[in-house]
Amino acid sequence: MIRGLGDALSAVLLAPCCACCREPLDHPTRGAVCAACWRSLPTQTDPVCQTCGDALPSSRLPAGIPQCTRCRRTPRVISCGRSIGPYDGVLRDILQALKYDRRRSLARPLGALMSAAGREVLVGADFVVPVPLHFFRQYARGFNQAAELASHLGVPVLHALRRARATVTQTDLPEAQRHANVRGAFAARCRIPREAVLVVVDDVSTTGATLDACAHVLLEAGATAVRGLTAARAAARLP
Ligand SMILES: [Zn+2]
Ligand SMILES: [Zn+2]
Repeated sequence: MIRGLGDALSAVLLAPCCACCREPLDHPTRGAVCAACWRSLPTQTDPVCQTCGDALPSSRLPAGIPQCTRCRRTPRVISCGRSIGPYDGVLRDILQALKYDRRRSLARPLGALMSAAGREVLVGADFVVPVPLHFFRQYARGFNQAAELASHLGVPVLHALRRARATVTQTDLPEAQRHANVRGAFAARCRIPREAVLVVVDDVSTTGATLDACAHVLLEAGATAVRGLTAARAAARLP
């Protein structure tokens, strides 16, 4: 009843709108995104690359283990990656609201969707490891969106990485420069428990260069296997 009263009062007094579709929210106390937008989220439909989780065109499925062209061409450091779906439409709007409008309450429902989409990645995992933000960027934003998402996956969080140096945002770079941009950008900040299976968590991945750079450091620091889980995968054109 109190929540209903809160909804009615804030709907009348504040008239908050959905962070995605901008329609007035019927239940503002339930979060910044309306139920219709959550329902309309795109989902990753099979088949996907077994290594990185990218969707594969079913008409051109390779023989053997389903793998995308990029993973066939360049061996990945992460052993398995998954995401809720493509970085597009409502999913992109929700992630931008989380990150740039600082809607931290969106991390919990996003985490639930990531847990469902990333079952294969999370099973048997000992820890989830958020991709760290550089100190200045985290200070400016007030939080690290990857850490917020990681805290809602039902697996203990290990802040095992730190930024060794600031980097240009990956999305601002052409694909060919992304691996070089993040090479040496991360360092281990704690000992990795023996034989640990880790999952690197981030909001968006494009070429997977950041996930691989993090996985490389964690394997060097003693992890047995490193997987990747992101809220979304942005499409990157192959060179
Ligand atoms: Zn909406
Ligand atoms: Zn792949």
